[in-house]
Amino acid sequence: MTEGITGITSRIAAIQADLSSLSTRFGSTTVAGTSFAQALAAQLGSASTSTSTTTTTTSTTAAAAVDSTRNADGIPTALAAYGNGKIPADALQQVGTTSHRLWAPAASALTQLIADAKAQGVTIGITDSYRSYASQVDVAARKGLYSEGGLAAVPGTSDHGWGMAADLDLDSSAQAWMRANAGRYGFVEDTPREPWHWAYTN
Ligand SMILES: [Zn+2]
Repeated sequence: MTEGITGITSRIAAIQADLSSLSTRFGSTTVAGTSFAQALAAQLGSASTSTSTTTTTTSTTAAAAVDSTRNADGIPTALAAYGNGKIPADALQQVGTTSHRLWAPAASALTQLIADAKAQGVTIGITDSYRSYASQVDVAARKGLYSEGGLAAVPGTSDHGWGMAADLDLDSSAQAWMRANAGRYGFVEDTPREPWHWAYTN
């Protein structure tokens, strides 16, 4: 055992000697490496500075950009120019940490609604939110037009195309919770035969 440790100790000494000779031979590389490390640190420092600047700018912009007004047709003013189902993702806002996006005021309201429901032991999932024009065409083809007994709006007219409605995954207690509380968050169950469809009306 002692001999083993002695053997290891001498091997470590030999390795250290090798490393020492390597760092002597590649002294200039080490200097260059140090310079690189310094340059990297400088870059990281400036990147971190610019990131925080960007973050500040973004949050300022976001705070200033939230426009909760609607035009005479009830369409979000900030989105009207894009057209129903033609809104770029970055003009919409993510709902919590989900993959779903809605008009910013609706996204904020639904995020809060889901969090408050969760705090009360009620789970509310999202099955659909903003729906592109192509998706509206697809849904209409699969589910039929509402006016003909189906479940889809005429493509280009759906509230989903403005990010103003969400289809929710609700069990019976969540459905009851929504009916009792959603109005306080601006959401209404406005479509007969679609208890999962909640439109944002604030
Ligand atoms: Zn819907």
